[in-house]
Amino acid sequence: MDCDKCGDAAVMYAAYSGLHLCESHFCRSVEKRVRSRVRSDALVADDATPDDSETWVVGLSGGKDSVVLTQVLHDTFDRDPRIELVALSIHEGIEGYRDESLAACETLTDDLGIDHEVVAYAEEFDVRMDDVVEDDPENMAPCAYCGVFRRDVLERYAADLGADKLLTGHNLDDEAQTALMNLFEGDLGQMANHFDASLGPFEPTGEGPTERARRSQTHHVPRAKPLRDVPEKEVALYAHLRDLPAHITECPHAEEAYRGEIQELLLDMEERHPGTRHSIMAGYEKLAALAADAFGGEEHVEYGECPTCGAPTARDVCRTCDLLDALGAEA
Ligand code: SF4
Ligand SMILES: [Zn+2]
Ligand SMILES: [Zn+2]
Repeated sequence: MDCDKCGDAAVMYAAYSGLHLCESHFCRSVEKRVRSRVRSDALVADDATPDDSETWVVGLSGGKDSVVLTQVLHDTFDRDPRIELVALSIHEGIEGYRDESLAACETLTDDLGIDHEVVAYAEEFDVRMDDVVEDDPENMAPCAYCGVFRRDVLERYAADLGADKLLTGHNLDDEAQTALMNLFEGDLGQMANHFDASLGPFEPTGEGPTERARRSQTHHVPRAKPLRDVPEKEVALYAHLRDLPAHITECPHAEEAYRGEIQELLLDMEERHPGTRHSIMAGYEKLAALAADAFGGEEHVEYGECPTCGAPTARDVCRTCDLLDALGAEA
């Protein structure tokens, strides 16, 4: 098949758009979608200047998503003195998995000349995920512990690094799964949080599906997901075509049963009805904006300080310290 733009040999066909694209037009289309999301989310603050630049911390796991996000952001902002990129990686203590993906992170950040911080659960919390999975005092899935620790580390280090924004490599499939999970659980509060924490634009730009901007967060570094218009398969193809140092092995503890079911459902729907993920997200974003109007806002939540670690929390003791206590580790 030939590229619909230039007639060269096509490397991919996207059923949702009906387009065949060659390597060069495909790569450009991925980059264009990231840049247009950066614009429609108003990610670059109006008042950012070369003298008063913004720091964007990118959560870099070494998997294809965060590697592609880091590369495209670097290509986009390398010569823009208003934006400084810093990569932050987490070592969870998972034998035979994280060491290799951290090597990929090192290679990438060395190539691009980006500052790179690595934080290990072992040093932060005195725990390793391999041991947590063994102990499992709360009878939870591994990712439930790991997610709490990850959020804690990302928040704290993003703040320490002076981050204005924390960017993660969630792709279209990830976001459509989260959207469906929130819809199926009927959790409007969760949708409102999703909008204010990471989905809504920083300023109303009129370019995305919603006019409404997110509420500013006083207790958390604001997040954004500039890769969220690109389907997972296309992220993988982009990493492959550009020969990026992405690590593809799955974590041995990955088991999010419900998300797995949703993922299968979505892939099946997408196969039979191309464009399903895009239309879910377009509708969900509007719905989440309405939910944020009706239910959102930190003013409804009393934030205090965790007496053990000092992190902002709406609970008596923060969730991280709770879990560490259950694990019998020292915070
Ligand atoms: S798959 Fe789960 S346990 Fe493994 S690194 Fe990710 S969140 Fe942690
Ligand atoms: Zn072409
Ligand atoms: Zn705490």
